[in-house]
Amino acid sequence: DQSVCAPLPVLGRGVTVPLVTGGDVTYAALDYAASAPALQRVWDDVAAYAPYYGSVHRGAGYLSQLSTDLFENARRTVAEFLDCRDTDQVVFTRSTTDSLNLLAAALPADCQVFVFETEHHASLLPWRAAQVTYLDAPSSPGQAVETLERALADRAPYGPALVCVTGASNVTGELWPVQELAAAAHVHGARIVLDAAQLAPHHPVSVKDLDVDWVAFSGHKLYAPFGSGVLAGRADWLRQAEPYLAGGGASRKVTRRTDGGVDVEWHDTAARHEAGSPNVIGAYAIASACKALTEAGFDTLVAREQHLIRKVREGLADVPEVRILSLFGDDAARVGVISFVVEGWNSSHFAAALSAEYGIGVRDGLFCAHPLVRTLLGSDPQTQGECGAPEAAPGEKSLNAIRVSFGAGTPDEHVERFVNAVK
Ligand code: PMP
Repeated sequence: DQSVCAPLPVLGRGVTVPLVTGGDVTYAALDYAASAPALQRVWDDVAAYAPYYGSVHRGAGYLSQLSTDLFENARRTVAEFLDCRDTDQVVFTRSTTDSLNLLAAALPADCQVFVFETEHHASLLPWRAAQVTYLDAPSSPGQAVETLERALADRAPYGPALVCVTGASNVTGELWPVQELAAAAHVHGARIVLDAAQLAPHHPVSVKDLDVDWVAFSGHKLYAPFGSGVLAGRADWLRQAEPYLAGGGASRKVTRRTDGGVDVEWHDTAARHEAGSPNVIGAYAIASACKALTEAGFDTLVAREQHLIRKVREGLADVPEVRILSLFGDDAARVGVISFVVEGWNSSHFAAALSAEYGIGVRDGLFCAHPLVRTLLGSDPQTQGECGAPEAAPGEKSLNAIRVSFGAGTPDEHVERFVNAVK
């Protein structure tokens, strides 16, 4: 652990917050899985560009041309970051949720969708207009592949199909066998979209090596704020679909017909799904974060994160009342996202105490993955537990959990304070 690198500089490192016990303490942001603090480097890049900001794809002025170049370069940077195929499109969206809804709106007719019940709601819910098969929670990565293979082998009639899977769980932090799931999907003539919201900030994602058809992620979890996200991958379904938003920028030519109607020719590039004035700063910030993470090196970042994971897991193992939530068991490969319950404690009160008494920001609830968390807690699938809802009575099973999550900007002191606070 001596060789572990220093955390990357992020915004908010020195922010102090008041404690109910009196005095102030520096804030320990341990909710990276919700939104990670922006890298200082991203902030500096955005600040350097801000005076030159202009509209893209519209203006004749110098700054509009410059902004258009930067916007299109950001697309190329993201394509490199994701190791995309030459023929792939990178569409800038608002978020992972937006990206997956865009793909859901672009599904060909009669597309069957296969999704594990363990998914985040952003990857579980957008497909509801299609014919969806919900797959039961597996208890190992191998069982996930077998479950998918069985479901795909049974499918009929043999038309278009899509599998949607999360690369790293936002609840357990566990890595899913994406490459194997992609191979299974392709053997059975299905395509696959990877929800990389939690994977991309922690691990390199190669579209080519994983052989996935699309990848979605969010800027605000990848150390770049500003409401931007990405859907990258195969162009064909996106090109054939109606634009996600109809409007300027998506249309190449609009003409009035002699019968009084209007004809539209849509772009068949990424612009088809980016109608309206795009979030240029957001795209620029994502590209800046991609470059910063690549330059820092994922080997180095992973080594540091695994060091923090060890500290947290070893610390929590000393507390007999703590139960860490896991689908795949102790040996699973994982990112810095750990959910747990504390016997005898209401999870919401526990999280509130970490904030009020120690200046530690974690999350409590069902983490927008209600079926998964209920499965992990062993609660009745129909229970009413919700994010922020009243908790179980003393002596009853917890309905909510606590989640601690961290990443490239987390100093050791934050996780040490967290472990000591839990103890
Ligand atoms: N997928 C996963 C695995 C996530 O963790 C999240 C965010 N918690 C999302 C999708 C949705 O991301 P966003 O809120 O940025 O759309």
